Amino acid sequence: MCGIIGYVGHRTALPILIEGLRRLEYRGYDSAGVALASPNDVTVTKSAGRISALEQIIDVESTQTTGLGHTRWATHGAPNDVNAHPHADSSGRIAVIHNGIIENDRALRTYLEQHGVTFTSDTDSEVLAQLIAQLYDGNLEKAVRQALHEVSGTYGIAVVCADEPGVIIAARQGSPLIIGVGKDEHLLASDAAAILAHTSQVVYLGDGEMARITPNELRITTLEAVPVAKEVEEIEWSLEQIELAGYDHFMLKEIFEQPAALENCLRGRIDLREGTVHLGGLVDCARELVRAKRIILTGCGTAWHAALVGEYLFEELARIPTETEYGSEFRYRNPIVNEGTVVIAVSQSGETTDTIAAFNEAKQRGALTLGVVNVVGSSLARGTDAGVYLHVGPEIGVASTKAFTGQVAVLALIACFLGRRKHMSPTAAMQFITALSQIPTQVARVLERADDARKVAEKYQQRENWLYLGRGYNYPVALEGALKLKEISYIHSEGLPAAEMKHGPIALITEGMPVVVIATAGSQYEKIINNISEVRTRGGSVIAIATEGDREIAKMVDHVLYVPDTLEPLQPLLTAIPLQLIAYHAAVIRGCNVDKPRNLAKSVTVE
Ligand code: GLU
Repeated sequence: MCGIIGYVGHRTALPILIEGLRRLEYRGYDSAGVALASPNDVTVTKSAGRISALEQIIDVESTQTTGLGHTRWATHGAPNDVNAHPHADSSGRIAVIHNGIIENDRALRTYLEQHGVTFTSDTDSEVLAQLIAQLYDGNLEKAVRQALHEVSGTYGIAVVCADEPGVIIAARQGSPLIIGVGKDEHLLASDAAAILAHTSQVVYLGDGEMARITPNELRITTLEAVPVAKEVEEIEWSLEQIELAGYDHFMLKEIFEQPAALENCLRGRIDLREGTVHLGGLVDCARELVRAKRIILTGCGTAWHAALVGEYLFEELARIPTETEYGSEFRYRNPIVNEGTVVIAVSQSGETTDTIAAFNEAKQRGALTLGVVNVVGSSLARGTDAGVYLHVGPEIGVASTKAFTGQVAVLALIACFLGRRKHMSPTAAMQFITALSQIPTQVARVLERADDARKVAEKYQQRENWLYLGRGYNYPVALEGALKLKEISYIHSEGLPAAEMKHGPIALITEGMPVVVIATAGSQYEKIINNISEVRTRGGSVIAIATEGDREIAKMVDHVLYVPDTLEPLQPLLTAIPLQLIAYHAAVIRGCNVDKPRNLAKSVTVE
């Protein structure tokens, strides 16, 4: 969501801030701004709309070497120029940028107004600037610390002050911040992408921690002023990975990266000679995990769909009762967490607030918590007891693609890891991991036929309602296909377990309505063929996702998109691909902004 960039060093800050903001654009935002600090003052420039709008009003001659930049995703107050960040105090000497929500902002605002402060914006964030200014007596760090003791809610903040121009004070509670370490300079960001062009050496700020950052010094303390020793870590992502590399959109690039991404995800984790799965991150808790009486998988959006595939995998391969829960629902329904409950949080960014809230709840209730996460060093990755990284590389497109297949692949690995320690025979495990090892090549084969999906999107471009049907392992894929289409092309689409169609949604089917049916070879093939017939009888147009070699199905449907044959539990890794491509092309044909769909943000860091 919203983004933070900061710079303090020997170079001119402005170009670094603007470039950083551009790298954060993919997260979604509605306004942007910068603050530049010098001994005379703090200059704040901000504007609703795109970063290009900000660039038009900014003083490009600025030479300050300390500054902050922010992209806002409004929660309190309309997305306009005044509410954009940074927010300065009434004297204009202190400026703050803030990600998150200050929950007691009303009370603080009333208190400050009673003490003569006049507010200019409607945001919750402005109270931070005004409060810090009230408490300031020549030591910015102290004032920020005192202010944060009065605040409840979530925040990642950065503060500059004209009286201390070479200093940035940062703090976090529930909203990510990392500090980039350079030569005689430091950077601050909410996301590694913003600083990768300058350094790959970073320090992750933890919840409840503050940093005092100058060109040559980085001092981290708790909110209680206790020093915290931190290691400088290396970001494993490269700059090339966050660039378009000739593709029109990040989403398309990431769809086509899937063979390599899955190869990376599986690398070193499957042993084809032994028929076993190695997951370094689970070794320490393997015994506890195997003894689990119940597994709860939690996530949101696409990650929830991957988790649902995981539920089927865990029950089939490891025979452990498993449920999938939305993070937001799990958190607030007084969930039952007993001895032997394991909670696995699935998230691309590792920063999804609802998922983090769910895992915190699980942790408090004594569950063993695991993370299936892409972003190394993210809040979930650091907060869970153990976990497995996706290793699919940075995902920039808002519509998740390679993270979905990466999550399913990791859940398949965990299912096999557990299965082998329980009832799964060496032969079955060998067959499973052999099939898994072939998936990257098979995905590449699906991608060779990408044009077939484009033709489908073209043919039905005028249609405003689509249905997606699947059974078994492909039911979550149907949900995911529908989500992909609606989120980037704004076409209404619904995903269903195919058998549910006749319990209501069948009423929607009219002449020519596109219905995507995942009809790959497997235990429910005959049943799904019946569902196809039900759709056709009512005039619907069927787009089937079928197994290579199934010529018969072509006679029963309007279009077939073929995928290679694999074991049923692994089919989602292949059947998801044509659905990603249909959504992508539908959005492009309809002129939608594929990588920045309306109202959406990449990682949802508010409840
Ligand atoms: N709650 C703040 C606002 O509405 C910050 C939003 C953000 O995280 O961008 O201004």
